Amino acid sequence: MVKADAVFVNGKIWTGDPARPWAHALSVAFGRVAALGDDALQLPAAQTVDLSGRTVVPGFYDAHHHLALRGQRLAALDLGFHAAPSRERLLEVIAGHARILPEDSWVRGGGFDQNKIGGFPTREEFDTAAGGRPVWITHVSEHMAVASTSAMHRVGVTDLANPPTMTGGLIEVGEDGLATGLFLENAKKWFDSRLKPYPVSDIITSLETGSRIALTEGITSVADPGIGATNGIGMGPADLHAYQRAREQQRLHVRVTAMPYLTATHGIEHFEPGSDGWGLDLGLRSGFGDEHLSIGAVKVLSDGSLIGRSAALTCDYHDHADDGMLLFDPEELGATLSSLHRSGWQLAVHAIGDRAVEHAVEHLRRAQQSHPRRVLPRHRIEHCGMASDESVRRIAELGIIPVPQGRFLTELGDGFIDVLGTERADRLVYRMKSFLDAGVELPGSSDTPVVEAHPMKGIHDMVNRRTADGQPIGLHEGVTVEQAFRAYTYGSAYASHQEHIKGRLMPGLLADMAVLGANPFAAKPAELGDIAVRATVLGGEVVFGAESLG
Ligand SMILES: [Zn+2]
Repeated sequence: MVKADAVFVNGKIWTGDPARPWAHALSVAFGRVAALGDDALQLPAAQTVDLSGRTVVPGFYDAHHHLALRGQRLAALDLGFHAAPSRERLLEVIAGHARILPEDSWVRGGGFDQNKIGGFPTREEFDTAAGGRPVWITHVSEHMAVASTSAMHRVGVTDLANPPTMTGGLIEVGEDGLATGLFLENAKKWFDSRLKPYPVSDIITSLETGSRIALTEGITSVADPGIGATNGIGMGPADLHAYQRAREQQRLHVRVTAMPYLTATHGIEHFEPGSDGWGLDLGLRSGFGDEHLSIGAVKVLSDGSLIGRSAALTCDYHDHADDGMLLFDPEELGATLSSLHRSGWQLAVHAIGDRAVEHAVEHLRRAQQSHPRRVLPRHRIEHCGMASDESVRRIAELGIIPVPQGRFLTELGDGFIDVLGTERADRLVYRMKSFLDAGVELPGSSDTPVVEAHPMKGIHDMVNRRTADGQPIGLHEGVTVEQAFRAYTYGSAYASHQEHIKGRLMPGLLADMAVLGANPFAAKPAELGDIAVRATVLGGEVVFGAESLG
């Protein structure tokens, strides 16, 4: 006789399906939703989970989430004053941490202030503390760092009496005529760029750490933008190998859509008779993989950031006579994007300033026009930080998906207002309701570790739109609680062509769920961000918070 694997009862289950938005029970078979409501109680089930009246939503899908990078940051040691109030204590913490790491692993951390702990630690002290493992510890200001001897060797600083010189930076030499291990300003960047690729074992550890934390936030899927990138967001050229290995070792705890960075792709001769293409070898492209790990859109950065005043604007910055910059020659980038489009890729262009967004829209329009595809490619504009009414209209018309970050408004919003002025920030920044009104399917995302990842914080900010200082920022672009939840579930699945397998709780779709501590649909808008995730269910299995469920 057919048996359900599990049945979840006594819940307030928000399915995300407009035809049947609520159910009190849900049964699972083979990792998928088998039935809802009374139907779910018909089949005998191997396990019964009592939801005790709690609200359940489809598992959150963060559409822009740097999983490995976040894991790496989380795994880095906190060496702030509270954690390491003296130099001796700092070395003890490093030693304790190093002992649990593989022999060749980097020991990374940051937050020390030499003024408070009695001076800078040295290269030799790190050598001893970490048992020869490479150590790289950044200062609280992030403007300097101290390396161990083996770390310096790894990045090519082998002649300690004559360390390399660079403009805007310094590798300090001590009284004994040898490098002390202290790297200042640009010397730090010089070091960072040579740190990669990280060992695969380190990347797997980062993925495991990042995905475990994600589960505690109710996140069951992420799209990870920029794997294989050499510019800071990727870990190394074999990123996908590390993801696959992590998955095989059952250490990749959320579903991942890995988005290769542009530099990981290349021209492919004779892609088709008479024409060349662009992409990965074998014609591997967006959509390949399975429901746990797949290849998503190819990502490219077309401009910088607002806070860094490097996002490309149509007018100068408010506090600076400059309009930012595009990172590529538009003709060249447009041609590459068209080749990728023609070779079957979904595209994801990072564009933040309104000028960059205009260029991105035009690139995507040309690509679609030069080679119409039968199925809408759903090309994406990552962030889409500033959009004019005209850009909103064109984005809707072309079926492009903007991928904005609600959390940016709180954590970075005061900075947006400083660099753009109140009027422009209010009118153009991170538009959401306008896109919905224009018929665009909006995803939910965080860009963590740039800001906090917790989807309830993101949802709070999509609804409330206040900066950390409490300034309103485009209140007219606020969305409803239901629209924000749809974004973080169905919308993100849609943005990766996956809405047929997840994003709603309907028979046949993956049984991925987040169990909440309160009902967000009945909560005060200001309190949305305080709603906890009590448990997370992936493929019908309670993978976080089992102890809080009956
Ligand atoms: Zn990002």
